[in-house]
Amino acid sequence: FLPHLVASMEEVEETYIMIKPDGVQRGLVGEIISRFERKGFKLTGLKLFQCPKELAEEHYKDLKTKPFFPKLIEYITSGPVVCMAWEGVGVVASARKLIGATNPLQAEPGTIRGDLAVQTGRNVVHGSDSPENGKREIDLWFKEGELCQWVHVQAPWLRE
Ligand code: UDP
Ligand code: MG
Repeated sequence: FLPHLVASMEEVEETYIMIKPDGVQRGLVGEIISRFERKGFKLTGLKLFQCPKELAEEHYKDLKTKPFFPKLIEYITSGPVVCMAWEGVGVVASARKLIGATNPLQAEPGTIRGDLAVQTGRNVVHGSDSPENGKREIDLWFKEGELCQWVHVQAPWLRE
């Protein structure tokens, strides 16, 4: 146990990041993962997964009444997704910035959606919108034993 390598726990958040089926089909998995890795976050869960309809509906339950909901569920279940849990200081808001605006045409260049996508209905990646939803979504998508806790040896080079 190396206490100086472990961030003080109160400031560490977790977020659920998912590469959607279009990101997998377009060969963008490595590109997208590398953006979170290079930023300095810690990967604690990773799997390729064919999402059942019920899980997609639960994940997006807040959008159930939206007109695009059926097409969204069809999209998310249309092929495998890459499920990830990432940990770090401020990771929830920072990941949303790296991802960019929901509509890729409005997403800034330099963001994942701004660089790699053109349409809201094919916006390649998901990121939790709050620390509470980060926890909820990681619980929803990962089973016990699928997450790894490990010491990030880069930690002292990322934070003073
Ligand atoms: N979406 C869509 N049409 C819309 C709004 C959203 O197809 O008009 C899809 C899109 O894939 C988006 C997802 O529904 O990423 C979830 O919507 P939300 O508003 O939560 O956007 P996000 O948090 O992903 O930026
Ligand atoms: Mg959202």
